[in-house]
Amino acid sequence: MNISFRSVQKAGTGLDVHDSVYLPRLAEENKQVRDISPVEVAVHAAGSEHQCRVHGALRATVTYQCSRCLEDASETLDVPFDESFTNLESKESEDIHLVADDEIVLDPYIEETIILALEYCPVCAEDCKGLCPVCGCNRNRQQCACNTRRVDPRLAALQDLLSSDESQ
Ligand SMILES: [Zn+2]
Ligand SMILES: [Zn+2]
Repeated sequence: MNISFRSVQKAGTGLDVHDSVYLPRLAEENKQVRDISPVEVAVHAAGSEHQCRVHGALRATVTYQCSRCLEDASETLDVPFDESFTNLESKESEDIHLVADDEIVLDPYIEETIILALEYCPVCAEDCKGLCPVCGCNRNRQQCACNTRRVDPRLAALQDLLSSDESQ
């Protein structure tokens, strides 16, 4: 998705831009993300032939893998977008991105904004019970009889000794 300084300047009060951006790498590079819909971009671009602010909102549906039960769960992300660009080297700063020519390529900035909004440890539900550490069943759907009390490893060694005594 591109916006040119010239078209923004020509538009006078600015330009409303709606577009969809595909970010397939995002699911490949973030292992908690199974899939992501195209990002719906709705922004307003305003400025001059040398400086342009693009702000608005991004929306995408992300399918996560729950970090507890490993099932898929979808969530809609609504993220604000606000970036400024210039094509004058002297005006570049931390908050204003320098663009080499007339075209502002927005995709990398959209991708970065979405990545920052991703859940790092997503869960399908706040009360997800996760997988049984013993038999691996999904405890949201099934109840197993496994003993999942945590045993201190030193006590476990003692228990092993005691139980081998009993078997003699
Ligand atoms: Zn879950
Ligand atoms: Zn179990």
